[in-house]
Amino acid sequence: MDQFERLSQLPLRDDLRGQHPYGAPQLDVPILLNVNENTFGVPLDAKEAILKAVADELDGLNRYPDREFTELRRALAAYLGHGLVAENIWAANGSNEVLQQLLQAFGGPGRIAMGFPPTYSMYPLLASGTGTAYAAGVRGAGFSLSAQSAGEQVQALAPNVVFLCSPNNPTGTVLGLDVVEAVYEAGEASSAIVIVDEAYAEFAHAGTPSALNLLEGRPRLVVSRTMSKAFALAGARVGYLASAPEVTDAIRLVRLPYHLSAITQATAVAALRNSDALLANVEAIKVQRDRIVDELGQMGLRPAPSDSNFVLFGGMADPSSVWEKLLADGVLIRDVGIPGHLRVTAGTEAETSAFLNGMRDILAK
Ligand SMILES: *Cc1c(COP(=O)(O)O)cnc(C)c1O
Repeated sequence: MDQFERLSQLPLRDDLRGQHPYGAPQLDVPILLNVNENTFGVPLDAKEAILKAVADELDGLNRYPDREFTELRRALAAYLGHGLVAENIWAANGSNEVLQQLLQAFGGPGRIAMGFPPTYSMYPLLASGTGTAYAAGVRGAGFSLSAQSAGEQVQALAPNVVFLCSPNNPTGTVLGLDVVEAVYEAGEASSAIVIVDEAYAEFAHAGTPSALNLLEGRPRLVVSRTMSKAFALAGARVGYLASAPEVTDAIRLVRLPYHLSAITQATAVAALRNSDALLANVEAIKVQRDRIVDELGQMGLRPAPSDSNFVLFGGMADPSSVWEKLLADGVLIRDVGIPGHLRVTAGTEAETSAFLNGMRDILAK
């Protein structure tokens, strides 16, 4: 009996039958540019600060952690600025958990969440896990999304939750704030919670405005962020949001008590105290990101403009053979399921060179 047959003998929820667990392939390859991690790692000063902060927690590890993670919320509010205070902030084990909690509170059976693919593939899965219906909106040419089109689609569907991802994964492109405003207004009729997922905000070109600018006076707007990418802390699992205090109060109704461990809280607070050192690498990654766009363009491929730490590119006759040849060279990138396209994370200068040299070789043959 295979695993699938064994599973089918359990009293699994009907809507989960036949589904497969999500996850990018985790292969043992020297150069991993497939899941948009920050490949620079945590700088030494920050590592030492985190080590000390975690050590200081050990004496109290027999006690439950601060359920309200007050110090962390204060530190995140200070990091974001925009006049935000602890009451505006919520955090969880990665922004995936933050998004799940939002759906637990505002989605659920009989309700609809909406996204605009190609976008983050976790949105439909989080919807499925919380019994929320998921509707896919449509984009225009070149994966664009105008304020008018997005607003009309939200108006027509009347969803309870809307996901906007900016910079968008997997395209790397930002949405104008006019799109967020139009979606927010169009969502008035269905009282939609509008979530702007800004997981990659720190990588945007200078002058790109954040949806944090729109929070004032918009109680249904939520801006989601993460420490997984810019802060190089994917393994620590810390995501967070900024919103009106009412939204964070709603999440308190569905969160597990003590969901953020004392170790996680201490790690995140120590990292935020060292944000200058951690974010210094973001500038180096942006240089490599721009270099990928330039050089792939020179090779005759079609890279999408990117405000994130990755680049989606098309123009290959056979992307899966390109993916395989790179893998044989020890470079893992991502096939995100968009026909004719692949996605690569910007790494260190050496990693990026290995990818670009591999591409040049493949195209020359
Ligand atoms: C990587 C990513 C996240 C981050 O997820 P975490 O759970 O915080 O690690 C969120 N949204 C998008 C679009 C992402 O690509």
